[in-house]
Amino acid sequence: MSYSLLTVTYIAASALFIMSLGGLSRQETARRGNLYGIIGMLLAVLATAFGQNLAGAMNVGSSGFAMLAVAIVPGAIIGATLAARVAMTSMPELVAVLHSFVGAAAVLVGLASFLDPGAHPTGTEGTIHNVEIFIGVFIGAITFTGSVIAFLKLRGSIGGKPLALPGRHLMNLAMLLGCAFLGYQFLADNHHGLQPLLIMTGIACVLGVHMVMAIGGADMPVVVSMLNSYSGWAAAAAGFMLSNDLLIVTGALVGSSGAILSYIMCKAMARSFLSVIAGGFGSDSGAVAAPKGDAPVGECKEYSLDEVVQALRDARSVIVVPGYGMAVAQAQHPVAEITKLLRARGCDFHFAIHPVAGRLPGHMNVLLAEANVPYDIVMEMDEINSDFPTTDVVLVIGANDIVNPGAQDDPSSPIAGMPVLEVWKSRLVVVMKRGKGVGYAGVDNPLFYKDCTRMLYGDAKKNVDALLTRLRDE
Ligand code: NDP
Repeated sequence: MSYSLLTVTYIAASALFIMSLGGLSRQETARRGNLYGIIGMLLAVLATAFGQNLAGAMNVGSSGFAMLAVAIVPGAIIGATLAARVAMTSMPELVAVLHSFVGAAAVLVGLASFLDPGAHPTGTEGTIHNVEIFIGVFIGAITFTGSVIAFLKLRGSIGGKPLALPGRHLMNLAMLLGCAFLGYQFLADNHHGLQPLLIMTGIACVLGVHMVMAIGGADMPVVVSMLNSYSGWAAAAAGFMLSNDLLIVTGALVGSSGAILSYIMCKAMARSFLSVIAGGFGSDSGAVAAPKGDAPVGECKEYSLDEVVQALRDARSVIVVPGYGMAVAQAQHPVAEITKLLRARGCDFHFAIHPVAGRLPGHMNVLLAEANVPYDIVMEMDEINSDFPTTDVVLVIGANDIVNPGAQDDPSSPIAGMPVLEVWKSRLVVVMKRGKGVGYAGVDNPLFYKDCTRMLYGDAKKNVDALLTRLRDE
């Protein structure tokens, strides 16, 4: 492939990635955005494989393609199988693991670039190359171990409680300064650079573990998007090391969009962006999430299925608040049927989406889109919070933390300050969950004991199916 064709293909792939991000920003265009991303990535892989870079760098002709095939084919098969099998509720774990791969790749590319006897530019060019290696390995190592810890936390393999070691900010600062000093040594004497490079890699790995371990359970959404951003910068750094323009552009796109998403998530969780970057947020207040399984205290009033049907029949306005439990139960399809039925009967029907509902940014939007719920009745938290006081019935389906009034009323709560859906301002709130289990943050929810609240216990899918059948039978 000629150099100009390679450049044109890279530009086309970059444009497709930008169009993909544009498409993914709205539900109506998300599928198209996804398609642009797939085509862009296909072009990128083909252009890199057949471009001059490969032949030039490896200079091994067809055996280079054989090596590439040995790496790509099993990887593609394993990746496709895992992605096809993964349950929607485990998607955040998969995303965290994928981020760790990007981090590990950046570390390996950095070490390989340093050890490659054929790639040792001298003078200013050499210094720039070494800076790229050092920074790439540093970001990659933090991303790698941070993502592994995020994966284990999301999976529940290690507790969600923030690890608040005494003097942890000082420890982080000492590690950063240590890495800076090693960077100076690495650049000053490149012939003996491997030792400082490897020591820095070890320190950065510890820093990644420490930063994510210090983050509390309910703040994990921010961590996921932050590591997404780090993985983008790690890829961009690898692009510099490999002199691959497309990898630089793609990494910068992922890095900056991840940073913007982190900022949005921080706003949604009422956290400061800088404290997220520094790590260890969510634990400064001294409030620590209650251990999982803590049973809420207080008295809840129950409703029977018939009472819920009656309330829905009489309601002129209904808002559904979906949460993680709806995703687990896979109740979105019968919920969509109820939506159709009640709207056909003239009911004013909306969905209220909290930015961190479920376990992945946009989790609920994906479920509702899958069930063909019209986009125009799916409202963001800011758009719908003022509508609750004039709403007859709110159905909270498998949601907990995102409707917890304690976030507003209880300064000692681990989720204090997090904006929530103010469902308790409506006339009737029906909470559908299996029992008295707590949500991801592990805290009690005073909503369940409010006068306006009635509990409908049981699996969300079973209950929504039963509601649908009774509403249809009328
Ligand atoms: P929560 O985790 O707060 O609550 C989910 C509730 O669903 C539980 O209380 C559970 O109660 C109930 N439930 C579970 N299974 C079922 C079922 N089959 N049928 C009915 N109910 C069920 O979810 P929310 O969506 O309210 O809040 C999301 C939380 O996750 C927030 O704390 C957020 O910070 C965190 N998070 C979000 C991420 C994101 O990016 N969106 C990423 C990581 C964490 P019971 O056991 O009694 O049934």
